[in-house]
Amino acid sequence: MIPYGKQVIDEADVSAVVDVLRSDYLTQGPKVGEFEQAVASYTGAKYAVAMNSATSALHCACLALGLKEGDTLWTSPISFVASANCARYCGADVDFVDIELATGNISASALRDKIAECTRAGKPLPKILVVVHFSGQPADMAEIRALASEYSIKIIEDGAHAIGARYQDQKTGSGQFSDITIFSFHPVKVVTSGEGGMAMTNCAELESRMRVLSSHGITRDFSQFTALEHEPWAYEQQALGFNYRMSELHAALGLSQLTKLDTFVQQRRQIVEVYDQAFDALGCRTLAYRTDRLSAHHLYSVGLPERVDRAAAFTALRELGIGVNVHYIPIYKQPYFKALGFSEDYCLNAERFYESLITLPLHPSMSEGDIAKVIESVTQVIGFD
Ligand SMILES: *Cc1c(COP(=O)(O)O)cnc(C)c1O
Repeated sequence: MIPYGKQVIDEADVSAVVDVLRSDYLTQGPKVGEFEQAVASYTGAKYAVAMNSATSALHCACLALGLKEGDTLWTSPISFVASANCARYCGADVDFVDIELATGNISASALRDKIAECTRAGKPLPKILVVVHFSGQPADMAEIRALASEYSIKIIEDGAHAIGARYQDQKTGSGQFSDITIFSFHPVKVVTSGEGGMAMTNCAELESRMRVLSSHGITRDFSQFTALEHEPWAYEQQALGFNYRMSELHAALGLSQLTKLDTFVQQRRQIVEVYDQAFDALGCRTLAYRTDRLSAHHLYSVGLPERVDRAAAFTALRELGIGVNVHYIPIYKQPYFKALGFSEDYCLNAERFYESLITLPLHPSMSEGDIAKVIESVTQVIGFD
């Protein structure tokens, strides 16, 4: 089976992890800080806080921005559930802004309409908007940021797909258009640390809050103390935090992988160019790419032509050894979210997008033979117009 996504690990990655195993620190040593520094300097962000997953980073980001019971967070329905769950961890409500069909990204005009509708109906606006960069292509950040600023809405970029992406002349994570950006280093993502995530920000206050929250709510920085004496052994728990720390092993792998990020993205882009040409010719709905940005190409999702039965094609492709998947089932369809009152077809564009959606294998370790096999199999299964 050619999987839809897969890590690429070389000998340098292996020795980086083995070196840590032979060192004094398996956790809370120097590697985590080095990894944070490296991602901060790659993206152009001032601060980075490494955690054990992007989900943890989303949770701490929401808490650091003050999200609590009675507040609302808006996000895209075409995302992994973690983009919405972070609100629920804080006791806040979730709502969804529809996407644009061409890119799968949250639609700036749907956002404008939803804000207007809420204002008219006297309904509260969200405290936070989580913007997902679907498949690795940045959303319309300038328009979204302008709208959000006008209504004092904070922005978290869910960049789980988008490390290595560019928007205008900035790398995703630079924070030019948001308060916090989070990345994931799960093995299917563009670079991996095994499990892991990171929160990027340019605000010292947010950095400090996320760092404290990700390690039990404890600080050892005397300048931050509010109660205890500055005794040499003193530490202060100031909030209910978590153990969301990244280990040294994970950080060492992430650091080593980061040196290959631009190459991985380039290799992914080359495969996408071949795919787009082949699948356009078969009448698939390939993603539109905006000219002022570059995708990191985490996922290759296409819409199958209307004549094709998606479920039958999915099964046939799996039988041919193609590890197809679907990214994503609109979040509001999940029973947990349905129970919160969302209807089956809550966002119309998300419904249309999802209906025919299929994810095909995309990772830098695919051989030319693998790429040809995917194209041949799809051609065989869906045929021409
Ligand atoms: C993978 C993913 C996450 C969660 O990342 P983890 O590191 O596995 O917690 C969040 N959001 C999106 C859009 C993702 O694809």
